[in-house]
Amino acid sequence: MSPLHELGVAELGRAMATGQTCSVELVDHLLTRLETRQSLGAFLHVDADGARAAARAADARRAAGEAGPLLGVPLAHKDIFVTTDAPTTAGSKMLAGYRSPFDATVVARLKAAGTVSLGKLNCDEYAMGSANENSAWFPAHNPWDVARVPGGSSGGSAAAVAARLLPASTGTDTGGSIRQPASFTGISGIKPTYGVCSRYGMIAFASSLDQAGPLARSAEDCALLLSAMSGFDERDATSAQRPPQDFTAQMLQPRAGATAAKPLQGLRIGLPREFFPAGLSGDVAAAVRSALAELEKLGATLVDVSLPRTELSIPVYYIIAPAEASSNLSRYDGVKFGHRAARYTDLLDMYKKSRSEGFGAEVKRRIMIGTYVLSHGYYDAYYLQAQKLRRMIADDFQACFGQCDLIAGPVAPTVAWKIGEQGDDPVKAYLADIFTLPGSLAGLPGMSVPAGFGEQAMPVGLQLIGNYFDEGRLLHAAHALQLATDWHRRAPAGT
Ligand code: GLN
Repeated sequence: MSPLHELGVAELGRAMATGQTCSVELVDHLLTRLETRQSLGAFLHVDADGARAAARAADARRAAGEAGPLLGVPLAHKDIFVTTDAPTTAGSKMLAGYRSPFDATVVARLKAAGTVSLGKLNCDEYAMGSANENSAWFPAHNPWDVARVPGGSSGGSAAAVAARLLPASTGTDTGGSIRQPASFTGISGIKPTYGVCSRYGMIAFASSLDQAGPLARSAEDCALLLSAMSGFDERDATSAQRPPQDFTAQMLQPRAGATAAKPLQGLRIGLPREFFPAGLSGDVAAAVRSALAELEKLGATLVDVSLPRTELSIPVYYIIAPAEASSNLSRYDGVKFGHRAARYTDLLDMYKKSRSEGFGAEVKRRIMIGTYVLSHGYYDAYYLQAQKLRRMIADDFQACFGQCDLIAGPVAPTVAWKIGEQGDDPVKAYLADIFTLPGSLAGLPGMSVPAGFGEQAMPVGLQLIGNYFDEGRLLHAAHALQLATDWHRRAPAGT
């Protein structure tokens, strides 16, 4: 058997089921590895005692005859999910020392399935960012090159899985925060259709866009986690009222007319021409093309499609997301929630000082933009206009899905950049979200799967986007690709 930290979720489940290892052994192994790898900055909080206790409980459940693919499997949660076992900060000083009296639904469901949480993972403050550099605590590093960012906002979630500190983690994706860090670190991640995972207990950034999802090393592992995390939740009014889904079964379901050599026979993959612009970095384009060639070998056909409003998704997203954020973050006033300044003269001064001290620069920028675009006189020009365009962007996808079953393209225009390289220019990072924002605005499921390597041997991800509730087809294609290629098995040096 390979060293325990190299095994994925499915493999670990099997190894525990056959008695080759147990959760306690596994958790001890990972905690020991973690001790010497804290400088990666992936974890904000390690809950060693809690993890050991949960591992003992999982082993006891197994000894009592319980089975289940996730029983005893270690993971950790993005620090945007509230948890009773560990503090939750959303990567912000505003929530320093906060401990939730309840678990987020996603956390509770994974706990019920027997997973063991090792703690909380670093992220951009309130999930606002693309590099984990907006964490109020410290940046996370990319294990492929520690001078580079792991992507964001789920940067810690991606770095930990890529560095083999964990077999899997949870993340959230508002405009790309699962897909882009998965791409930057050479792992797999899926953002399901909006409404598939409950947002209850997920600290809100932009409520009409926020979705939870898993990050792991394979599509198969993502399917296992998503099956446990998802499902209707009456505590979230936007939760989709659908029966529980077994994404693993959907992933394994053979296509009609498929053969062993051509498992994707008949699958039409649309390539939006706007996803391959002149400005796309050559190394990223080459890696994406090589993955597409593999999909073709497996029987898929590539068709040209168009998403004409791709570029507009940047201004549309950066109006709607800050608008919702400005509203969501108004609750942090030093009274109802969050940090309270030590010294102030009156109520207004207390609000002002508490919010000035608690929030970081990017969060303040978005609160200001959001307040502006919602204000009287500007609402029609910005917010309303953006909402109209959002609908048109979603309609563009439906026109594409008339011609294809899945859409493919790059996740990001470049490989992971150097920490600090973008300096004080937030717009640079906003522009790099171009390929993930359209799917987010439309509420569609999207996935990033490893597609090889680009400049400086940094990982490149292939993005696959499906129609609403078509996660099964996404995972099926990704799984077929991973059975035929080994990009997803490569590990950074030194892990
Ligand atoms: N990079 C985007 C932003 O900064 C997306 C973040 C996210 O998906 N949480 O808003």
